[in-house]
Amino acid sequence: MASRPNILLIVVDSLRADALGCYRPGVESTPNLDRLAREGVRFSNYFSQSSWTLPSFATIFSGLYPWEHGYFNHRDYYRGGNFLSAGQENGYDVRCCVAFAFFQINFNLPRLTAGSVKKNDLADAAGYVERLVGSRDRRTPRLVFWHIGSCHLPYFTEEQIEPTDRIGSLFQENIFGGFSPSPRVPGTLLPLFSKVFRHPLTGKICRQLKNAEKLKKPFHGMINRWGGERERTVLELTAEINSGRMKLTPEEIRRLREAYSYSAAVTDQHLAGVFNRVKNAPGREWVVIVTSDHGEELMERGVFWHKTSLYQSIVHVPLIAWSSGGREGGRVESAYRSHVNLAPTIMELAGMTHRRPGYSLGKGFAPPAGGEDGPVICADLRSLAIIRPPYKLILTAAADIDYNDFSSVRLARTELYDIEKDPGENNELSSGRTELVSGLKRELIFRIKGGDSSSHALTPREQRRLTEELVSLGYL
Ligand SMILES: [Zn+2]
Repeated sequence: MASRPNILLIVVDSLRADALGCYRPGVESTPNLDRLAREGVRFSNYFSQSSWTLPSFATIFSGLYPWEHGYFNHRDYYRGGNFLSAGQENGYDVRCCVAFAFFQINFNLPRLTAGSVKKNDLADAAGYVERLVGSRDRRTPRLVFWHIGSCHLPYFTEEQIEPTDRIGSLFQENIFGGFSPSPRVPGTLLPLFSKVFRHPLTGKICRQLKNAEKLKKPFHGMINRWGGERERTVLELTAEINSGRMKLTPEEIRRLREAYSYSAAVTDQHLAGVFNRVKNAPGREWVVIVTSDHGEELMERGVFWHKTSLYQSIVHVPLIAWSSGGREGGRVESAYRSHVNLAPTIMELAGMTHRRPGYSLGKGFAPPAGGEDGPVICADLRSLAIIRPPYKLILTAAADIDYNDFSSVRLARTELYDIEKDPGENNELSSGRTELVSGLKRELIFRIKGGDSSSHALTPREQRRLTEELVSLGYL
């Protein structure tokens, strides 16, 4: 099948749709993604199925709904289908480049650049993907998956963070020399480094640094300015803020949002080279798809981070598709689509014909022939949402939802919004709309019933490694 295109799927972790200029007029810090949208197709109503990385990626890879893959726990292996493995089985040269090492343990991705490309190595990762895209092999179609962690908390900032800054650990500063690939630690940083030597995580940085020096490999370790790699504090602070124990000032909220936008801008800058390479690649057509696994709450409702809710700030994510065939020319697709449609779309594009258990049998991005679009459904352990435009119903449970026994769900809150008139979800409409609410609830329950889940225990070694990483990312 000579006509099968090369495919590059870029998933920018924690990137809200409205962080991009093409989704929010007035934002001017994402020119490369905006240009890609102008030359390709942009889905204006696109959603992630869940509020955080793990269940969302299980859906991205399989095209299954969260209650179908049942994958909410990072202590389990993901055993379901993965279009990347399918690509490999179907003759694609599949390469994966990820920012967080837990992909390796959880998802068993083929040809993974294993955990060596972390958040701090964005320039290295971009260089690696540029080389993949520019590869001379024209005979084998390529399928490249690039997960980018640079919009994930802690954010990049241009600010000088003072040691006394009570929200300083929400930002991260590159102590070891920005993005310039230097194999050595600048001497001036050594005193600072020794000052923080006692911190347990600093030992890790130290080992990575020595290893990088030995291999003469660029290293971009980041520690917070006041002298400690204290990412754990990100979680402590998040918990304090989200529980209301710490109240952020308007100025702190502004700084938080500014750093988030800056992180999106830095990410966008690093995409320029890859897009350039793809646009000038001779031979086989390239299809580039850019999306995110979930958005981010930035104190719109008094909380921040993700894994928090199914509001628009969390589930409304970008989806830009571009092809070197250039057929779309800036079209904006307003049909409601979500990550369950992504794997089927890619599998179809790649001419992957076989379907195995564990893959979605669902629909791609194209509208269903002769039928109406189904609703978008998002699901977490504590909340569910169904979107039948213009309405969105969000159900919040009193305890974790057992998707095998859905009848036992106890609801703590029911919210109804008109997301077309009120995208900020400020006007809750459920009272007085009993019929609409119960209709949406019925449809939601009808679609969720019949799910399945599987799990597999990790070995103690894998468990330790994973726990370490999740702590450093702030999940534990
Ligand atoms: Zn994520």
